[in-house]
Amino acid sequence: MKKRRNGSIWPAAIAVLMLAICGIVIYIVNNRIEDTVSQVSESVTSSATTTTDISDTVSQESSDNSEKSTSLTTSENSSSNANSSDISSRPATSQPDKIDTSSCDINQWYLKLANYNNPLPSDYEPELKTIKNTNLKFHAKAVSALEEMIAAAKKDGVDLSVASAYRSYSRQTTLYNNEVNSYVQQGYELEEARQVAAMSVAVPGTSEHHLGLAVDFYPVSEKFESSAQYNWLKKNAEKYGFILRYPTEKQSITRIKYEPWHYRFVGKEHAEFMNEHNMCLEEYIEYLKDRQ
Ligand SMILES: [Zn+2]
Repeated sequence: MKKRRNGSIWPAAIAVLMLAICGIVIYIVNNRIEDTVSQVSESVTSSATTTTDISDTVSQESSDNSEKSTSLTTSENSSSNANSSDISSRPATSQPDKIDTSSCDINQWYLKLANYNNPLPSDYEPELKTIKNTNLKFHAKAVSALEEMIAAAKKDGVDLSVASAYRSYSRQTTLYNNEVNSYVQQGYELEEARQVAAMSVAVPGTSEHHLGLAVDFYPVSEKFESSAQYNWLKKNAEKYGFILRYPTEKQSITRIKYEPWHYRFVGKEHAEFMNEHNMCLEEYIEYLKDRQ
């Protein structure tokens, strides 16, 4: 009995030992798998975060685009509707395309060019309306955009005070003749005085002020560039459809000296496009012609 009992102990001991080893092996393998699984799940989480960031960016961009395309649509609708006076401040809806410059009508009132190559007839008369709180006049279809811009600046603590807006042909003639005379008095020959004067006061018929779409803000001087008004306009004018019309780097094209105080209404979507592509109005009109 004793021998038989002794004989049966060994296989049982070996079996217990084997089970113990198996248990240890299984424990180690399990732990490794868990580590790997947790690493994989961490990396999945982090890539999910990246995906969220990207989708935020995409939705931001698409909302920017839709704003631009909406204002274009609004503008073109309003251009065919004589009663619609404000193309600059409509709320955005949800069209994803950018401005389609190939379908812009360059003959619209808000893209009209008045310069040395494109003089207006002396009897040119835009439809005018008095600018709120002033005795000055502006184009009837753009006056609300100007008033909204002035109101928005005021809200931000910036006083956009209008120095000059619409000018008749005869008023422009007086200003131009005065400018020519001041150069003559400085000793310039008449022809030379005319040329120099034309850089700062447009020859009658070529002034944007005759269009009723240009506005000068105080102070009408080089100081304007360092004013709060200038800084505000630089950031915000395009939202109301206005551009800095005679930038310093475009003098060879505009043939008008740098005027930081002079802004021109062209409509929001055009103002944004021109700023984005660093084009002055002459360049933009040429660009649109090429796209037709
Ligand atoms: Zn001006």
